[in-house]
Amino acid sequence: MKILADTHTHTLASGHAYSTIQENVRAAAEKGLQLIALTEHAPAMQNTTSHAYFANLHVIPEELFGVRVLKGVELNILDFGGAIDLDEKTLERLDIAIASLHIPCITPGTEAENTRACICAMENPLIDILGHPGDPRYPLNYDEIFKVAKQTGTLLEINNASLVPDGFRAGSEENILGLLKMAMKEDVPIVVGSDAHFYTGIGEIPYVEKLMDKIGFPEDLVLNTNIQKLLYAIKRNRRTKN
Ligand SMILES: [Zn+2]
Ligand SMILES: [Zn+2]
Repeated sequence: MKILADTHTHTLASGHAYSTIQENVRAAAEKGLQLIALTEHAPAMQNTTSHAYFANLHVIPEELFGVRVLKGVELNILDFGGAIDLDEKTLERLDIAIASLHIPCITPGTEAENTRACICAMENPLIDILGHPGDPRYPLNYDEIFKVAKQTGTLLEINNASLVPDGFRAGSEENILGLLKMAMKEDVPIVVGSDAHFYTGIGEIPYVEKLMDKIGFPEDLVLNTNIQKLLYAIKRNRRTKN
């Protein structure tokens, strides 16, 4: 599978990632990607960047080294009501927003509580992607998650970092497989993200590919293989067009 876009990446600004924007975008260009999304951790994550960083992202050109650059964020879901850590005005000005559950920002609840947190986030018109929903530390009702994702047009992310053996989110595989099978059955597209925290990881999704190959997941349901389809599927882009 040849992906043309990486929709989940981090730089030095996130506090626990190690490359610059230039290094990441250059790596994207060298690997033949046409689009990269800058998605730093939002302010509630320890040692990440501030609100002002996201408010000023417009100073970065829309294209660098021939690669389209989406200015985005990886929001933290803060409570079971789907609260997030960036104000609406700033969020509205960004090109893409992922929302994820992270241990430092929300203690896992029951399956019902975690599911409600994600559903509330997906109902937010400014949240385009639910990040790494396979994380076994946050049990979810995947039937519900899938249903609301479809209803709200929120994209479910298949995250390469979640599948790294012995990684932070070890044990994600089974949950991800379940989601992929639902997507296949109902012909619903998904997004893939490297979640790279160093430039060498940009555009690299080997674990995702392995899993997809195992079940024969159709390439045309992976939005990252088609820039036009991807941009159209981003909820906020549809909103402004309507
Ligand atoms: Zn994350
Ligand atoms: Zn991330």
